Amino acid sequence: MAERQKVLIIDDSPLTVRLLADILQNDYEIIKAYSGTEGIEAAWRHEPDIIILDVVMRGLDGYEVCKILKSNDITKNIPIIFITSLGDSEDERKGLEAGAIDYITKPFSEPIVKIRVKNHLELKRHRDFLSQLSAIDGLTGIYNRRCFDNEAKKLWDRAVLNQEPFSLLMFDIDHFKKYNDTYGHVMGDECLKKVAINIGEILSAEHGVAARYGGEEFSCLLYGKSFDETVNIAKKVFAQIKELNIPHSKSVYKTVTLSCGVGSVVPGKDIILEGFIHFVDSLLYKAKNEGRNRFFAADLKDNHEIINDFSKIGLVKIYES
Ligand code: GH3
Ligand code: MG
Ligand code: MG
Repeated sequence: MAERQKVLIIDDSPLTVRLLADILQNDYEIIKAYSGTEGIEAAWRHEPDIIILDVVMRGLDGYEVCKILKSNDITKNIPIIFITSLGDSEDERKGLEAGAIDYITKPFSEPIVKIRVKNHLELKRHRDFLSQLSAIDGLTGIYNRRCFDNEAKKLWDRAVLNQEPFSLLMFDIDHFKKYNDTYGHVMGDECLKKVAINIGEILSAEHGVAARYGGEEFSCLLYGKSFDETVNIAKKVFAQIKELNIPHSKSVYKTVTLSCGVGSVVPGKDIILEGFIHFVDSLLYKAKNEGRNRFFAADLKDNHEIINDFSKIGLVKIYES
């Protein structure tokens, strides 16, 4: 059976929260928040499938909360239903304009609340399913670049907020052009698939994300892992590719190999994700230059200046496989 969907109720009246929770708790997991600020935090932490939001609240009101949730990558696609008082069409208009998907009126009609929430949650499930489909690379079956970009942005923001490490591994198949030239494009595709599937399995076992970043390049994200854990995952990938033992007569190693750049950082507002990706790409480039079939890994912690100035790379210890 599918996991129970999560409903977040935000209302500064404990009585209203309790009434709604009573109506919905048999069917869904309920999260309760009693102010706008508390509600935003809960939305971040729990990523609910739907939010029921009171318009009139002390502190941040419903419109402001809605605006904040809609402007954030993690929460912007969560449908919001406003709670308004019966007959207040001005509240309803403003709510819908602020990005709410629907509204329910006080006093509640129990069956109507149930049906409205159920309909929106069914649509949400469907949308999630579709967006998951379009996140997949057609050839390899792992995530595609679009998905990588979205996930990276989301996890980066979360890492900035929670001051947790964000790690990136960028893999590139060595001399893949020669592989195609030697064995043909069909075999080339087969090789890509095998490498991708193996990287994907290792990363998903570690709760990471593996994506096809470009032709024969794969990028992987890890959130909240230590540098040592990250390096171990890179090692696992290398061991696995070695194990695959795919013949490549034009390579000095005689089998298909990878080069890789690895970086871990506790990001801050002073650096941008694109800068960090560029930095890790430079480490991949270094691995290519120094003979391929190897990786270089840098533990930046909160040492950010190197990201903007690769010439300062000497300041940080580089792990070499
Ligand atoms: P390096 O070791 O420096 O990475 O050399 P390389 O030959 O792997 O790198 P280069 O970027 O020069 O060439 C990448 C090759 O990957 C060229 C392209 O034909 C091949 N390629 C990209 N996408 C696909 C694909 O979907 N299928 C196949 N069969 N080949 C692909
Ligand atoms: Mg390449
Ligand atoms: Mg290559």
